[in-house]
Amino acid sequence: MQLFDDRRTARRIDEKGRVEMNTVQIGGLVSFTTIDFPGKLAAVLFLVGCPLRCAYCSNPHLIDVGPGEYDADKVFDWLRTRIGKLEGVVFSGGEALMQGDATIDYMRRVRDLGFAIGLHTNGFYPERLAAAADLIDWIGIDYKATKTNYEKLTGINIAYDRLLQSLDVWAKTGKPAEVRVTCDPRYVTTDDLLNIARDVSARGFKNFAVQKYIPHFEDDEHKTTPAMRGAFFNNDNLRNEINSMFETVVWRE
Ligand code: SF4
Repeated sequence: MQLFDDRRTARRIDEKGRVEMNTVQIGGLVSFTTIDFPGKLAAVLFLVGCPLRCAYCSNPHLIDVGPGEYDADKVFDWLRTRIGKLEGVVFSGGEALMQGDATIDYMRRVRDLGFAIGLHTNGFYPERLAAAADLIDWIGIDYKATKTNYEKLTGINIAYDRLLQSLDVWAKTGKPAEVRVTCDPRYVTTDDLLNIARDVSARGFKNFAVQKYIPHFEDDEHKTTPAMRGAFFNNDNLRNEINSMFETVVWRE
């Protein structure tokens, strides 16, 4: 597979023949948000590339690895102008850790400007998360389904095990996190949600989020009904049990 066809993109080949980037590729930017980094006024950088192929992906334009729309040096210069105005920068995607050292180096530079660093991640790169953990202040991490449906949803058979490794890597840091489940009724049942919550709680996480699935497609293949999507939110017993497991639970309807 051809990864890059752009001379602006500096590349190197590692000893195993893998292509690595040494200039981070940014595919999107939100200049101001109050909701993507708890307690902080932040910008969000959307990095290109994701190893997963989730059935409900709302950022399909970001999942193929390729040159980003934004010049990373210009984004950095712009971030300098935000010092004193923003408190944090969130690395999102795609999957920001897919770009490996390029992402981690850029995180370090952004942190050196004085910003707190947030990461939205699917947990596919536990080793990279461990390598970057000292630079990152908070993560939002997706727990997409139980093991049974993880491959069906994400298209990758090792994604579930890697997610669990990432959860354990982060739990050891003692830093804050939000573990999120998007309740797509095609892949998650209410029993699954409960089991996921129990697992997340047992791993020591304090903050959990239950997100309603909003379909981005209207064709029959992707059809779910409002009742199916609402079933996770209308069940008082389920809500109470999950609420009892964490310090905070956000129900995003
Ligand atoms: S992890 Fe996120 S960006 Fe990647 S395919 Fe899934 S939904 Fe899309």
